[in-house]
Amino acid sequence: MDGHTDIKTLEHFIGGAWVGASGGETFEVLNPLDDSHYVHAAKGTGADVRAAVAAAKAAFTNYKETTPTERERWLLRIAEIMEARQKDLIDCLIDEIGSPVQKAMFEFTKGLTMLRAAAGMCRNVRGETIPSDRPGTFSMSIREPLGVVAVITPFNVPLIKTTRLVANALAVGNTVVHLPSEMAPHLSILFAEIVAEAGVPAGAYNVVTGLGVEIGDDLTGHADVDFVTFTGSTVVGQHINEICAKNKTPATLELGGKSATLVMADADLDTVMPLAARSIFMFGGQACIGSSRFYVERPIYNEFVKRFSMIAGKVGMGDLRDPATVIAPIISQRQRQRVKDHIADAVAKGAHVAAGGAFEGNRCQPTLLTDVSETMTVCKTETFGPVTSIYPIDSYEEGLEKANDSEYGLSSAIFTKNIDRAFHFARNINAGMCHINGPTIHDEAHVPFGGNGESGVGREGTDADLEAMTELKWVTVQL
Ligand code: NAD
Repeated sequence: MDGHTDIKTLEHFIGGAWVGASGGETFEVLNPLDDSHYVHAAKGTGADVRAAVAAAKAAFTNYKETTPTERERWLLRIAEIMEARQKDLIDCLIDEIGSPVQKAMFEFTKGLTMLRAAAGMCRNVRGETIPSDRPGTFSMSIREPLGVVAVITPFNVPLIKTTRLVANALAVGNTVVHLPSEMAPHLSILFAEIVAEAGVPAGAYNVVTGLGVEIGDDLTGHADVDFVTFTGSTVVGQHINEICAKNKTPATLELGGKSATLVMADADLDTVMPLAARSIFMFGGQACIGSSRFYVERPIYNEFVKRFSMIAGKVGMGDLRDPATVIAPIISQRQRQRVKDHIADAVAKGAHVAAGGAFEGNRCQPTLLTDVSETMTVCKTETFGPVTSIYPIDSYEEGLEKANDSEYGLSSAIFTKNIDRAFHFARNINAGMCHINGPTIHDEAHVPFGGNGESGVGREGTDADLEAMTELKWVTVQL
């Protein structure tokens, strides 16, 4: 596989072989920093998806019989080769999706953890013995892999999502067809090279590159796909949910967010401020669990806005390879327009720009909005840029009520010294995740990660995926 990435046009990885698109077409991927050409990738067709699903289905017959030792070794080997190819992966994260090196390193390190945690799942695919009312019956449940898992990943954290979901699926004995974001195909192709080098059996992991809008339904609606794990926007997730419901294909959906942070008057602002900044400015705000709403108790509201504005003015917007850089370019022209529209709409309707508000090239300045009202798009809709709104609240109860006034329910945070209040918030916030005195951005390999409502269905992580990506079978023996 060495040298494959020197080829300017990326190919699919199907059944252990590199193949071009059956239609012969390619699509262009741009470096979001300056819209320069980054790479060409095979523009997958429905036929390519069907070939990948057939390869994964054929491979499943033998792959499900592999031992925990074999799968564990492959996953750990993938992590080892990833370490050896760190530079390739980091360069790709910087040049393909505009990750500042700091965020690229965060993803890389997390990715290694995801693989090693998944290796620990291999020995844990367990059932149990069950007492029986029938005399002489030995009754048990056995846990089996589902078959072919469709993994669909977004542009913003392609390495975290690829390592976690592919590794978890493979760990428990499934095979995979992966449709990466059309804005991040190269990262998945690099990963496929690593998987091949690690000796994972041909067909266990397949990648089809292409436009989700053209070939996504061929994958999620395929009769031989046994599970779908999707991370991306709520609108695409809703569409996939409908297809999966019709076909009775189980699915995990990790979607958008509008995560809230409450800052109570007793919070220590010296501790809170850097965490608040991290919550929204990391990777230029292109994080599903970014905090795009801050509710701050009135006694400290002015001080909070003042300090946040000072930090916002100093957040690194330099060379992406400078470790001090935080702000990434917004991924695409369409997304840049969305961020600009959200700011312009808020300003036109009376919001005050406390910091930022403008673009420098393809990057949006860290932007803080105050006096935001319900009629403004930015109030309720995901922006996916370094833009957050700060609202004053007169009580904890008001903060909780406002934080819950959202169709999304992904992450949440509260900063306070009052432990009763903190736990009350954790119990009553409508979100899949809650961090007390920590930022909304937090993820680990083994935690139940996911959201409610418009933020998705189901959880991912080693334990959650072990359950979601396997099925129990009841077996009895009459003695
Ligand atoms: P997106 O929905 O545009 O694309 C995600 C993936 O869906 C891509 O691989 C794309 O090719 C594919 N796709 C598009 N149409 C499809 C279809 N009809 N069928 C199947 N697949 C299809 O999202 P994006 O812009 O890449 O990512 C940003 C979004 O992802 C944000 O809303 C963000 O909040 C969300 N996100 C959520 C999480 C989470 O864990 N909850 C994590 C990261 C990102």
